[in-house]
Amino acid sequence: MNILVINCGSSSLKFQVIDTETSNVLAKGLCERIGIDGSITYENVRDKSGKIKEDTQIEDHKKAISLVLDALTDVKTGVIRNLSEIGAVGHRIVHGGEKFTKSVVVTPEVIAAIREVSDLAPLHNPANLTGIQACQALMPNTPMVAVFDTAFHQTMPEKAYRYAIPKRLYTDYKIRRYGFHGTSHAFVSSEIAKVLGKDAKELKTIVCHLGNGASVSAVEYGKCIDTSMGLTPLEGLIMGTRSGDLDPAVVEYIAGKENTDAAGVLSILNKESGVLGLSDGLSSDFRDLWKAREDGNQDAALALDAWAYRVVKYIGAYAAAMNGVDVICFTAGVGENDTKSRKLIYKNLGYLGVEIDDAVNDSTRGEIAELSTPSSKVRVFVFPTNEELAIARETYDLVK
Ligand code: AMP
Repeated sequence: MNILVINCGSSSLKFQVIDTETSNVLAKGLCERIGIDGSITYENVRDKSGKIKEDTQIEDHKKAISLVLDALTDVKTGVIRNLSEIGAVGHRIVHGGEKFTKSVVVTPEVIAAIREVSDLAPLHNPANLTGIQACQALMPNTPMVAVFDTAFHQTMPEKAYRYAIPKRLYTDYKIRRYGFHGTSHAFVSSEIAKVLGKDAKELKTIVCHLGNGASVSAVEYGKCIDTSMGLTPLEGLIMGTRSGDLDPAVVEYIAGKENTDAAGVLSILNKESGVLGLSDGLSSDFRDLWKAREDGNQDAALALDAWAYRVVKYIGAYAAAMNGVDVICFTAGVGENDTKSRKLIYKNLGYLGVEIDDAVNDSTRGEIAELSTPSSKVRVFVFPTNEELAIARETYDLVK
């Protein structure tokens, strides 16, 4: 079945059409600057026809979806003849709160429930809903499925997801750890089990999703038991531009010193921090940081060392939380491609009995590879994530 996968941001919309029988991407692209001016990038992957980028007025998400559907059905560039060849649409939804523990077919009740938890992701959920409604308007007979970034983590035990704050703040406002990148953590932890010829229920796996946003999860016997992101994606690892863990008292302190409010501080912690902040504004891109480090830039060196140190600490914590670990997976942009950043992490995992073949590490970019040696006590892999494929499969499973 052909599934249209939609990932809607406030001013952008990413899409892919995936044939779930072959897992092949037929077409993909991106609408940007929606509501500002607008552009669409489209690629017919099936026929390898190359990328087309066109600047065009895109006043809202409905217009963006209509441009996407036009491109998909276009006689020259298209991959389908008409919209009936799309079996369903899978929508990435950032926050499902405690209401959604798995993907669901979209109904009016589901839309209302997503809206209810929008408080928890005020930038993302309303944009995600806009995407659903725009698709419904243009494809009224096609089923829609909502796939939540938070759902995979809903198996965490209470001791892992509760913050040590007054209970009423949890009961009244649902303030707790939710975790994100769930589709990626679920995909990698289940696919690696297949590669190993095992059932995920036999394995203790730590998934390190290391991209611009980054999180670690502890997946014990197929279920997530802990993850590093929290109420929002700000907690946990040092990321491209996000600080990750810090003392909450920092918020008031910065607000006082910089004459701003909590929102102003959160903007600093989300957009100006992480390796970008540590490198004194140099870059959030790891390629730039390594180049600068090699040119002797001390701030870039510190940013990379601090970033890796945080990952090492989380791996240690999650090995402890599961009382052992069988498999560690590196995924996402940095985890899949950055051989040197991986080395900064794994050189500190010897205490777990991890042994790595440096030559395999150094030559592995963007493909599945086992980095560990045959005598390693823990198996370590690079495993490329594929959130779109995971969303397409979840969608297919619900509508088939
Ligand atoms: P993601 O958020 O998963 O798309 O990851 C994006 C990040 O991956 C970029 O900001 C880069 O820092 C990093 N990245 C991508 N390719 C490479 C590469 N070849 N070497 C080092 N870092 C990379």
